[in-house]
Amino acid sequence: MKEKLKNPVFLAFGPVVLTSILTILVDWIRKKPILTTLWIIVQWLYRKVINLLNFEIKVWWILIFLIVAVLALRIAVYIYDKIHPQEEPEYLKYTSDFIDGWELEWEWEKGPHNSYRITNFRPVCQYCGTSLAPKYGSHGPFKCFRCGNEYEKSWAGADIYKNIILESVYKKERSKKISGS
Ligand SMILES: [Zn+2]
Repeated sequence: MKEKLKNPVFLAFGPVVLTSILTILVDWIRKKPILTTLWIIVQWLYRKVINLLNFEIKVWWILIFLIVAVLALRIAVYIYDKIHPQEEPEYLKYTSDFIDGWELEWEWEKGPHNSYRITNFRPVCQYCGTSLAPKYGSHGPFKCFRCGNEYEKSWAGADIYKNIILESVYKKERSKKISGS
């Protein structure tokens, strides 16, 4: 085929033959009204596509489009949240406990994917509820610097107490899921 295309006779007459075939084809199409209509539609579509591809876009159009898109998205999320309010987990009310002889208090901080973690974890005074602080620097017995009470009992470590708290939360959540309430 390649040899045929390179043939000088073909090169000389090829375009002429092609044009002739096209002319015959176009004439034939013109004779058929339906085909003519189709041809017009094809031409029209072709022009539309070319126009669309050549369309000059102003940068500020893109900016406005982006701003509108972001606003629309935010509104959609807001409406979605209004329709489907996220129910806060029951355990967020659980912010104090008495563990290992210590009165403990903490808060829940929202993390990613609707999870919560314990924050501001501290032992508090059993007499006045004030947060306890280590008596000497960072270690050693705790002391209430409001009422002066000292707590000499052993402190297992915040992580151990936090794990106990989380464990009881998990147990409650699991039993809730099992009972389906
Ligand atoms: Zn106190």
